[in-house]
Amino acid sequence: MDNCIFCKIVAKQIPAAVVYEDDDLLAFKDINPAAPVHLLVIPKQHVATLSDCTDAHAAVLGKMLALAPKLAKENGIDVKTDANGNTSGGFKTLINAGPDGGQEVYHLHLHVYGGPRPWRGLNI
Ligand code: 5GP
Ligand code: ZN
Repeated sequence: MDNCIFCKIVAKQIPAAVVYEDDDLLAFKDINPAAPVHLLVIPKQHVATLSDCTDAHAAVLGKMLALAPKLAKENGIDVKTDANGNTSGGFKTLINAGPDGGQEVYHLHLHVYGGPRPWRGLNI
């Protein structure tokens, strides 16, 4: 899509700190992180918003979500359980859709947030 900033990142026309890439997905660091770790997972193929998704997108949506725990492990934000059974760490996933959903970039993306709190502007 012309004039889509995330399509330009996919096409390597503008730089991004890429943390994962395969044939279908790209993941990179958010340019304005709201948490110590803030990653974005996107489909390489342009989809404007979750609101445009149908059953036809189920596979790519599943891949996006399934990538989150892998990224969390690789970036040190996964849920950990110690020998006493106490859990720590962890991460949040989020997809904003439309103006009331807080979407600013109209290329579907899954946020992955983690690291020690507080997280800026995220009271959720
Ligand atoms: P939204 O509000 O649409 O769910 O989130 C868009 C996210 O994209 C924001 O967190 C914003 O910081 C990030 N973002 C916007 N432009 C760029 C960019 O050019 N590069 C990167 N890496 N992130 C961007
Ligand atoms: Zn796009």
